Amino acid sequence: MKLPTGGTFWCNWCNVVLVAVTLFGLIAQAEAKMDVKKQAWGKTADGKQIDLYVLTNDKGFEVKVTNFGAAVVSIMAPDRQGKMADVILGYDSAAGYQNDTAYLGTAIGRYGNRIGGAQFSLDDKVYKLAKNDGANSLHGGAKGFNKVLWTAEEVRDKDGVGVRLRYLSKDGEEGYPGNLSATITYTVTNANELKMHYQATTDKPTVANLTNHAYFNLLGDAAGDILGHELMINAEKYLPVDKGLIPTGELRSVKGTPLDFTKPTAVGARINDKDEQMVLGGGYDHCWVLNKKGLEMSLAARMYEPKTGRVMEVTTTEPAIQFYTGNFLNGTIKGKKGTVYQKRMAFCLETEHYPDSPNKPSFPTTVVKPGETYSTTTVYKFSAK
Ligand code: BGC
Repeated sequence: MKLPTGGTFWCNWCNVVLVAVTLFGLIAQAEAKMDVKKQAWGKTADGKQIDLYVLTNDKGFEVKVTNFGAAVVSIMAPDRQGKMADVILGYDSAAGYQNDTAYLGTAIGRYGNRIGGAQFSLDDKVYKLAKNDGANSLHGGAKGFNKVLWTAEEVRDKDGVGVRLRYLSKDGEEGYPGNLSATITYTVTNANELKMHYQATTDKPTVANLTNHAYFNLLGDAAGDILGHELMINAEKYLPVDKGLIPTGELRSVKGTPLDFTKPTAVGARINDKDEQMVLGGGYDHCWVLNKKGLEMSLAARMYEPKTGRVMEVTTTEPAIQFYTGNFLNGTIKGKKGTVYQKRMAFCLETEHYPDSPNKPSFPTTVVKPGETYSTTTVYKFSAK
């Protein structure tokens, strides 16, 4: 039997409606995927609740963050087949972060990297800091921003979803002057980016150099060392160090040295060279001075892992980046899924101002004064090729 023409007409409309409904459904579903969820994750020694925040975008890219130490706990990023794996080192529980000694994924403050002699002077006053790295102070002192509980609020805005963490570091804490009110906002976008925005204000002149200490391994799940990863650092100069890893003050050209990453080069290609700086660092543990005019957002580094195709691109407003190849990891840390973290099983790309700036007047200043807002942004973007 032939269908009346009207039937065909209505059927066409049915299809249009069906397609529209399906599309609408898909869009709604896609939108529903971008989300931030909070779950209880343990307690501090004094009984305060620690939470875990799960930030997901529409593509399934997922970042977990805890308010203990403002640590990034995991980053699930796709390989060239679209297979997700965790690309950072860390712990399965909040207790891991409380006992951590290597700053796995944590926030670093007040001062990222080293301050020589564990002291500095500001406005003719000397400030003494904890000597927690030989004679020097490292990553904020004995109890840095990695060991404190931050307050947290979920964020949903045009950029994506995230969590905003706040901490008030009291005047004199770890020897630093001024009440420093610090905010870190971690945001996940649909471009598979993890954005880190740092802000701080103070009521007395002080110094600040906030960063994050994620240990990356783009093989995923720390499946081997990082020597086959290929790195580009957008820098013609770096800061040579002394035996305590304090910059000498010189800005030295990378040309003709194992520190030249202006063209993509395997991390392991020159890591054991007898170059004086490589020996002092026990591998790469140096700060590169980024090619840029001022403090604009610009490309700092790109890491590529050839087996999985994973790429991580770092852009930042900071003037420098510390590239560290996990030289001090020595098999004593048991991390996620029971994995033992061995030497060079991860790399850090910590965006920052130069180490020891408070003692080096020729370096860009890290002084923050009352009425000013310290503000920096770094984006880690993940893709595959
Ligand atoms: C430093 C290393 C240090 C490590 C501690 C890095 O930022 O450059 O020298 O051992 O942090 O985890």
